Amino acid sequence: MTIDYTAQVQAWLAPRADEMAELLTTLVAHETENPPGRALRGCARALTDAMARLGLAGEIIDVPAVQAQENPCIVRATVGTGAKTLYFHGHFDVVPVQDRAQFTAVRTDGRIIGRGTSDMKGGIVSMLYGAAAAAELGLLGDGKIVAHLVCDEETGSVAGSGFLRQHSLIDPAAVAMLTAEPSAGKIWHAARGAVSLRVTVHGREAHVGQADFGINSFQHMVRIAAPLEKYVRTMLDRHTAFAMDGNDARGSMVVVGGLSGGGSNFNVVPGTTWFTIDSRFNPEEDLEVELKNLTTIIETAGDAPGRGRVRPVRTGDAAMNR
Ligand SMILES: [Zn+2]
Repeated sequence: MTIDYTAQVQAWLAPRADEMAELLTTLVAHETENPPGRALRGCARALTDAMARLGLAGEIIDVPAVQAQENPCIVRATVGTGAKTLYFHGHFDVVPVQDRAQFTAVRTDGRIIGRGTSDMKGGIVSMLYGAAAAAELGLLGDGKIVAHLVCDEETGSVAGSGFLRQHSLIDPAAVAMLTAEPSAGKIWHAARGAVSLRVTVHGREAHVGQADFGINSFQHMVRIAAPLEKYVRTMLDRHTAFAMDGNDARGSMVVVGGLSGGGSNFNVVPGTTWFTIDSRFNPEEDLEVELKNLTTIIETAGDAPGRGRVRPVRTGDAAMNR
């Protein structure tokens, strides 16, 4: 006879549905917008409180702040004592709101709406209750679940997953890692990498009446953008070998000029012009190679006085597991 573990877990969860919804509402109320990375410690405490109620011993690991982050930290809990490790990984920072009311979760028609309910405080609640169910129902066997909840996923992960990796807090011998990010019911086993750059082009300001004496940074930016656009088209043609849904783009994706600006007035030769590049290269590709390709184009295009200077805003390696 096979045992229906799914039915067992669902039967354990069903009477706790309101409790789970209440925890999600509480987590949403912690305004963990990132950037800049606010209210992180308070949300971490709400998580360890919830863990304690579920019989999971959670601890808070303080992490050095990156830029304007306030009290960044990681919440960690181990469930079970078996030798094999399964990671439950999540993040409790959220992207900034358009309206403060988004921090008040609304429960209606079987849904909870509010900032971070989907990405991914709802996932965190599911993982915590899943771990508690596994422990109470004796489903851990010779394994254990280690939950890592980080505070810095939305802006590059230096104070989150990056910290865990840098401090050897992730066991490479672990069996698997599961994250409850929304993925339309499919299991993802690869991720694109990311390179976000800000390019600044310097020239020399001059009033329109003496435009001859100026160096127009905008003109130089256009010269840099032209070969960049050409390269971008080759990126779109580099297709991933991973299975994708019908309408999903197969090429390495990139946006040039998502943000741009410069100059001081319409009648002044612009002394500084800038723009951004955001590249999401395919899982098979390499961060260092991609960064070098883009940087080389930017730094060698155009004439010497108007060469672009590149500042990486954030970078992230691609990942895959076939
Ligand atoms: Zn997320």
